[in-house]
Amino acid sequence: MNFHVLTLFPDMIMQGLSTSIIGRAIDKGLISINTVNIRDFSEDKHKRVDDYPYGGGAGMVIKAEPVYKAYEYLVKQIKQSRTEGMAECKPRLIYATPQGRVFNQSMAEEFARLDDLIILCGHYEGIDERVLELIVTDNVSIGDYILTGGELPAMVMIDAIARLIPGVLNNDISSEYESLRDNLLEYPQYTRPEIFMGMRVPEVLLSGHHANIEAWRREQSIIRTYERRPDLLKKAQLSETENEFLKKHIYQSQSATE
Ligand code: SAM
Repeated sequence: MNFHVLTLFPDMIMQGLSTSIIGRAIDKGLISINTVNIRDFSEDKHKRVDDYPYGGGAGMVIKAEPVYKAYEYLVKQIKQSRTEGMAECKPRLIYATPQGRVFNQSMAEEFARLDDLIILCGHYEGIDERVLELIVTDNVSIGDYILTGGELPAMVMIDAIARLIPGVLNNDISSEYESLRDNLLEYPQYTRPEIFMGMRVPEVLLSGHHANIEAWRREQSIIRTYERRPDLLKKAQLSETENEFLKKHIYQSQSATE
């Protein structure tokens, strides 16, 4: 999969994504990350890309023209790298914005099916609305808070999407069994030693009995989701036995606190 980032700070993106798992995925050719510096498309002799907002108000706004030119340049690059049949496709373009749908795991799964994904990073007070109307296909936020720029959101999204690409994680199964799959959080994990500061690893994990381990993990996922993310649990599909188990757990924990 090819990620393309339209940004004023390409170094931030490349430095942030060139280490560990994502860095290795780039080295192996499983993903590529291409940055286009919006400033390179400024016609201003000082390479300025921002200007005062019409109507007044605080801060500066990124101009439409350099963003559009950077986009056109990038789309040409993408089309040249694609097969002819795909040449007319309009690429998916995420604008990282606090005004978008909040990014989540199912959006990451959807974007991971694409060959090319463009992410546009804003800065200052944002970007002239007219260019956004022309090029954006998805407005995406990474949470209800305001950051100084779209670079960190772009990195967050690329990391979450890239690790779903086959081969990026050493063990592909690990992305299938983790938190947020089926709206349940992951069970607690332990590694050696067996005893740490007097705390033992749960006995069942040392038993080698796979069915019991699976059952224990599923129960722990349910309890953990109930305790930490009850909003998610409402969307999870539990069997009748699991619902009974949960009711019993709730009853037991309530009686313990009374
Ligand atoms: N004035 C804008 C508003 O109220 O919507 C906020 C601009 S913010 C200071 C600058 C840039 O940071 C935005 O254009 C966007 O690209 C990025 N940004 C800030 N917070 C974000 C968030 N929660 N999710 C995604 N992008 C964000």
